[in-house]
Amino acid sequence: MNTHYGNFIDGQWIRSDDINRNINPSDTNDVIGEYARASASQADQAVQAARNAFPRWSHTTPAARHDILARAGTEIFARREELGRLLSREEGKTLPEGIGEVTRAAQVFTFMAGEALRIGGERLSGLQEGSDAEVTREPLGVVGIISPWNFPIAIPAWKIAAALAYGNCIVFKPAELVPGCAWALVSILERAGLPPGVLNLVMGSGRTIGALLTTHRDVDAISFTGSVPTGRGIAAACVGGETMKRMQLEMGGKNPLVVLDDASLDVAVECAINGGFYSTGQRCTSSSRLIVTDAIYDRFIAAVMRRLDTLQVGHALESSTDIGPVVDERQLETDLSYIDVGRNEGATLRWGGDTLSRKTPGYFLQPALFTDVRPDMRIAREEIFGPVVAVLRVKGYDEALAVANDTEFGLSAGICTTSLKYATDFKRNAQAGIVKVNQSTSGLDYHLPFGGRKGSSYGPREQGHYAAEFYTIVKTAYSSAG
Ligand code: NAD
Repeated sequence: MNTHYGNFIDGQWIRSDDINRNINPSDTNDVIGEYARASASQADQAVQAARNAFPRWSHTTPAARHDILARAGTEIFARREELGRLLSREEGKTLPEGIGEVTRAAQVFTFMAGEALRIGGERLSGLQEGSDAEVTREPLGVVGIISPWNFPIAIPAWKIAAALAYGNCIVFKPAELVPGCAWALVSILERAGLPPGVLNLVMGSGRTIGALLTTHRDVDAISFTGSVPTGRGIAAACVGGETMKRMQLEMGGKNPLVVLDDASLDVAVECAINGGFYSTGQRCTSSSRLIVTDAIYDRFIAAVMRRLDTLQVGHALESSTDIGPVVDERQLETDLSYIDVGRNEGATLRWGGDTLSRKTPGYFLQPALFTDVRPDMRIAREEIFGPVVAVLRVKGYDEALAVANDTEFGLSAGICTTSLKYATDFKRNAQAGIVKVNQSTSGLDYHLPFGGRKGSSYGPREQGHYAAEFYTIVKTAYSSAG
């Protein structure tokens, strides 16, 4: 008998007969639990509960909001090994990666607890004699939070913590593949003392529950992270219905890592392995394009392949595993079909690309490294979201920068070089929201703004103090002595 996990609406855990079985991608015989799918009317109740809770919650003291968020951060941190195990079991990243992500979620709550206290405004002189002006920030109201599967606790954490810190109420719809971390996070926030209705959990499909939130008249804003096609549909829904919603869309990437002749080979190889293949390549910031100049090209490819030889693909919870499974059968099919596309387009599959059998039935895939990739090939242009990396050979820095920017995406971009001149130029001219020098394109700090450009993102940045740009609305007040 599997454990049943309900939705959380207006402070009550609600069971359902409509069940989503949460399956471990490292071992498809392992059912983590049965998670209730919300009905449309339950999602509507969740929105109403959030709406009703908003007047009180938005007027709670900053100290009360701080204490709740800080308590949540403390519990997440104390339970990081247990929650990291749950995360790795349902999403498939390795246990150290899972524990690392949970630790990050705890840090986000602790940081955002402080934001509840730091939120301030400005006082200016008005233009009229005796007139004062104040610019303050107020919460938006009800925020719909729609999250993807690849960071099942960190992404919900950085959206929920920010929304709560600034006084908003929430209806949260996690991705269907990872309800376990979402449920655990909401139950921690309930225990931390959130009043009923402030945070509601509605698990279920994007097309029904997610779409309902994007068109609901009582939802003021949507914070979404996921793929570009879903994001585009959400953008249309947010402005096309009865209400014009504020939105924040964080979407896909095809992130370049440029490796110049003067790079430290060891640094470049570690950046490529970490950015390209860790977390099974399932990161929006993964280095799916390696753009390598002529003189270092052969040494670099040989060294990357030697490192790939040492990596173990296996069950996410085994200590010998470096790369866990692909998240599910559908994503594995996508990865394999892109490997076929790469071959058919004339690229050379230099390493890996085959499925693997392990002791347990799971979605195990060898990392795939393609060379002889041209910029116009689909494997160089489309987000695959798996451990499939395309290497493009270029003559020098100028061509490398042009190829790096030749993409519809603009999330993260990296360069490995020991040249101050090229590092500086790349920081200035890479068309990406995040630029890294001699670091993996993945891996971010929670106190700094996060987001992309071009097709990768729409709307204000997430994380750090910049989160206030999305989760608050500015008010300008004028006053004179009466
Ligand atoms: P997805 O777009 O399939 O789903 C994301 C969320 O949207 C899920 O909760 C889903 O149920 C919901 N959804 C689906 N259809 C919807 C609809 N019509 N209306 C409302 N909601 C709907 O993405 P995914 O497969 O879960 O995640 C992988 C994608 O996320 C990749 O493209 C990756 O690059 C991107 N991602 C981006 C970032 C970032 O910060 N830029 C971070 C992580 C992942």
